Amino acid sequence: MSYTALYRKFRPVSFADVKGQEHIVTTLTNQLTMNRIGHAYLFCGTRGTGKTTVAKILARAVNCSSPLEDGSPCGECEMCRAIAEGRSLNVAEIDAASNNSVENVRQIIDELAYPPVDGRYRVYILDEAHMLSQGAANALLKTLEEPPAYVIFILATTDPAKLPVTIMSRCQRYDFRRISIDTIAERMKELTEAEGIDVEEKALRYVARAADGSMRDGLSLLDQCVAFHFGETLTYERVLDILGAVDTEVFSRLLRAVMAGEVSGAMKLVEDVVMQGREIRQFVTDFLWYLRNIMLLKASDDGDMEELLNVSGEHLKALKEEAQQLEMNTILRYISVFSELQQNLRYATQKRIMLETWLIRLMRPQMDTDVSSLLERVRELEKQLKNGIPAAAVSVSAKPAPAAEKVQLSRAVPEEVKQIVKDWPVILGKSSFLYKAMLKTAKLSMGENGALLLCFEESLHVKTMKEHSEELAELLNEHLGKEVPFEIAGYDPGQEFDTQFADLKELLNISYEVEE
Ligand SMILES: [Zn+2]
Repeated sequence: MSYTALYRKFRPVSFADVKGQEHIVTTLTNQLTMNRIGHAYLFCGTRGTGKTTVAKILARAVNCSSPLEDGSPCGECEMCRAIAEGRSLNVAEIDAASNNSVENVRQIIDELAYPPVDGRYRVYILDEAHMLSQGAANALLKTLEEPPAYVIFILATTDPAKLPVTIMSRCQRYDFRRISIDTIAERMKELTEAEGIDVEEKALRYVARAADGSMRDGLSLLDQCVAFHFGETLTYERVLDILGAVDTEVFSRLLRAVMAGEVSGAMKLVEDVVMQGREIRQFVTDFLWYLRNIMLLKASDDGDMEELLNVSGEHLKALKEEAQQLEMNTILRYISVFSELQQNLRYATQKRIMLETWLIRLMRPQMDTDVSSLLERVRELEKQLKNGIPAAAVSVSAKPAPAAEKVQLSRAVPEEVKQIVKDWPVILGKSSFLYKAMLKTAKLSMGENGALLLCFEESLHVKTMKEHSEELAELLNEHLGKEVPFEIAGYDPGQEFDTQFADLKELLNISYEVEE
């Protein structure tokens, strides 16, 4: 009996099937049922969070001749079927990474002159929109500003920061969340039950955790495991075997080598891991969880974290020892560096070299500049290996011009921003200890548009907080009982903060101390 991949078999066909993005689905279904569809959407989020899936459902929904009550496509009418089978001219999915020239965009714009023959809308889904060249983006601008009534653009991107602001400001923006372990595990449970696959709950949770916020990765990992043991019960042990999980003892040895700065010891460990055929990205993910456990232990004084850790007694002893020897700041630095590594490994072909480089970087922070130049060369090499993929336009980050004078406010501070600044110590108190240490280093300012601006000295903190902006949004919104727009930025530690950004605490005359 052959096995059809769950990922293919259970692709969401209606909005109700989309898991973990309720905030987006609700807004879109409201727009559909009230007939207030936008003409330019921007879907942001990491891979596997459902951007293209939702774009495709939306494309069918606007063209469906008998949509369901929530606005979802019926899946049965001629339009729905034609689009699903790729026969319809109304929906075009374009990969901006390989169609990023002005010519490609002009071609699209030329097509727009003709209204759809059947159905109501022509929908253009532009994947990896940040890969568009500057010229192509400019060519698209005017059309995005005033598209014909029968045209909808959906731009999807994993890296909105690389999109020109002019493009972004013309789109309704939706941020797709990383999907929680619970949601992924629940979906997997549904699907395995529907397929009559016998699988242990613990095994599902392990796979869901390894998926790292991506439903697509989760299902394809599960597919790998099921295919390997088809017809048998999928146990936790089997999953560990297939996904190449590493014993916690190895992590303990690695961490101790890093702490002691023993480069050769750490490299030997990497060698062992590679020789055992372990998957490096999974290794790094698991190591991050190991570090997370140490952080939790460090953060709790009375050992009340132990049940959260899910480790056996003997491992707990080793963890506690390590937690004792490490400063919280060092743990945070390790976590930041490894999170960054994990992101970079997604597309890396030389995964081992990358892991080794990052480990050396951890152990020799003073040579960070040298390592980054080495990394740059590794990236160059990889680019050449991956022929045909144009390098993304390098975004030039404008550093604030050196100014000895303090930055003043250009406009009135909105009430909610004031309130946040005033209540900052209280909000810090409510924040989860996962981010508290990072948030404590934040300086508060205001963006051009009046949004709250959280500024961090450490670029790794900027990155980490951006990745976890939902948690931050929840924290702020919960505190005020309403939505507070905010942005996250970095500042140059070489200069006084208030010469780069308006220091709200100072300008609003609010005084309190946040102890480090
Ligand atoms: Zn239909």
